[in-house]
Amino acid sequence: MNKILKRVLITTGIIIVVLVLAFIGMSLKLKSEMKEFAPMETGQVVDNIFVVKDDFANIFIIQDSTQYIVIDCANNPAIVAEQMEKLGINPDNVVAVFLTHTDGDHVGALSLFDKAKLYMSKEEEQMINGTKSKFLWFGNSIPRTDYILLEDREVVQVGNLKFEAILAPGHTSGMTAYLVNDKYLFTGDIVSLKDGKIAPIPAFFDMDTEQAVKSHEIIRHIPGAEYIFTGHWGYTDDYQTAVAKND
Ligand SMILES: [Zn+2]
Repeated sequence: MNKILKRVLITTGIIIVVLVLAFIGMSLKLKSEMKEFAPMETGQVVDNIFVVKDDFANIFIIQDSTQYIVIDCANNPAIVAEQMEKLGINPDNVVAVFLTHTDGDHVGALSLFDKAKLYMSKEEEQMINGTKSKFLWFGNSIPRTDYILLEDREVVQVGNLKFEAILAPGHTSGMTAYLVNDKYLFTGDIVSLKDGKIAPIPAFFDMDTEQAVKSHEIIRHIPGAEYIFTGHWGYTDDYQTAVAKND
């Protein structure tokens, strides 16, 4: 075998080994960080708000008489469909879906809600159109193009429910919380909850951790908010305590 060919083969071999080791390392890190997740079990949470749990994410379903509005779509469509059946909620009666962001574990069951209007923030579009990617060249994607883009603080009325989009970037470029009826705050992956207090989510999952932590200040200043519902860390009915800083 000629020397150059030998060198090429050895170099290629080394690159493959490094890539495989990097992949294994990332998978192990992902697994250990996900152990901290504490999603709620499927059921009614408070008032007209229901939660569905798939493998590790929560979606929230808000009832407005005979229709429903969904916030985020979790990871696993089969489990979401099965859990919704348990709650007696037909996905066909979902009239609107609000995405906090477009990571795979928040859009997985989107295809169940084909009849629903789909909303996300204007800034999040760059995550799915190839402009920005969360990690290396892995961009996000969703199976629809008929989405409606919301400005920061834009309000959408759906039946008797008012949804206010509150941009809080960092986890993704267009990460957005939704304040429903000036009272219920849905934060997706902007914050986690630890002992009833908001806390950063593991930095491993953020696109820009510094920006994500800055965005906590936005979450701390939502007048009227009483509840916080998170994507993977449960909820609290004591907003004031959750956002108060420890001196
Ligand atoms: Zn998530």
